[in-house]
Amino acid sequence: MNALAGLGDTIAAIATPPGIGAIGIIRLSGADSILIADKIFKGKKLAGQKSHTVHFGHIVHPVLKDDAGDPELIDEVVVTIFRGPKSYTGEDVVEISGHGSPYILQKILEASITAGARNAKAGEYTQRAFLNGKLDLAQAEAVADLIAADSRAQQHAALQQLRGGFSGDLGKLRDQLINFAALIELELDFSDEDVEFANREQFQELISDLRARVSGLLDSFRLGNVIKNGVSVAIIGKPNAGKSTLLNALLNEERAIVSDIAGTTRDTIEETLNINGVLFRLIDTAGIREHTTDQIESIGIERSKQNAEKAHIILLLTDVTDPDTTPIRWLKPYAGKTITVLNKTDQLRPSGKQISPSAIAISAKQNMGVDILKQRMYDKAVGTTIKTENSIVTNARHYEALSKMMESLNAIEEGMKRHLTGDLLSIDIRRALHYLGEITGQVEVDRDILGTIFGKFCIGK
Ligand code: GDP
Repeated sequence: MNALAGLGDTIAAIATPPGIGAIGIIRLSGADSILIADKIFKGKKLAGQKSHTVHFGHIVHPVLKDDAGDPELIDEVVVTIFRGPKSYTGEDVVEISGHGSPYILQKILEASITAGARNAKAGEYTQRAFLNGKLDLAQAEAVADLIAADSRAQQHAALQQLRGGFSGDLGKLRDQLINFAALIELELDFSDEDVEFANREQFQELISDLRARVSGLLDSFRLGNVIKNGVSVAIIGKPNAGKSTLLNALLNEERAIVSDIAGTTRDTIEETLNINGVLFRLIDTAGIREHTTDQIESIGIERSKQNAEKAHIILLLTDVTDPDTTPIRWLKPYAGKTITVLNKTDQLRPSGKQISPSAIAISAKQNMGVDILKQRMYDKAVGTTIKTENSIVTNARHYEALSKMMESLNAIEEGMKRHLTGDLLSIDIRRALHYLGEITGQVEVDRDILGTIFGKFCIGK
């Protein structure tokens, strides 16, 4: 299906979430928005009204009549008019704020459709905003992230991307690269005369600068990914170490079933937790035994191993009262992402065991030390990096394009070392520009290169 089909239509949709609210909004966008709104709005004639104005009135069905033969009354509303291009989509937009009952909103939507609008497809408003130059692709994607954000860090990353921080960074890189592409391609036109417009030393500098910045953006993806998808945490420990109890303490509610019988937490349950605005996904695992004869338990151990493998952070929970202190051997490779937690310290006598300094002592049952553990989890996952105002890449598509761009930059650098000619270099430069353009949706590289050449050198004067 053509993604651009039906672009000239006026679209309508309920813009507020499903469910009952005090108010709900139907949004119309397109050339006929105001015309269509006038067919169902009883109040002032909207066609004559200025942009960014609000009008009180009633919505009626454009065709159906009531018993008295008058147009069927649907709701008392407030209508806001935004005339393009000063609107979210860049087109004429009408927002009808009605009473927030799903039934009423559906009736208003139906009335709009009968009056000439069509149902909007998912993301169509933002797509139009992009096509009308109100947002670039990275920003459009940020809108989707912002709508889906459920933690402060997610919201921060999406907002920053929306404000253009990310696109701004990339835009600067792109301009510099276009500049050099223009100079190098210009040389090709004068190839008989053996001139070099593009200073190779400056170009070399630009390329290493670009590589450093792209590599920074690539690194930020790990953090960005964490923000977007949450930090996965595996709680691992022997049966009865207190894993379920710790899970409850972390979540502050009685979610998992706690039991005295060793090995009762057999199902893997996933719960989310918000620490300082960062989302953590807790995976409760089955009890761990290195050797077992119990069929179900061994499935549990296999699952624990898989969880440990894929988790960003492992909480290794041990019971300080347990005389058996044999370490879990298969956890050794994951030492870097493991936080050792000593549980049941409420049972320790003052003369009790020496507690290892890097471990965190808690009592899951009495909710002691749990806040310190949360802080440690936060530090381990994001540390101080999250506070930086730098651009964060949260999108796999961007990551892919940046990786490809990095490959092209490496090829350019390699080519320069081997003193490749301009025509060969320009292939890799164009490739790098292409991937950069893929992120922001500006891929008309040719036109830009030409624009720079003519703008700067006035060839053909
Ligand atoms: P799991 O098998 O690792 O999930 O362990 P549970 O969370 O089911 O806990 C096993 C037993 O240890 C239960 O009786 C808990 O009440 C108890 N327990 C858990 N944490 C603590 C603690 O901090 N102090 C004490 N005294 N008992 C605890």
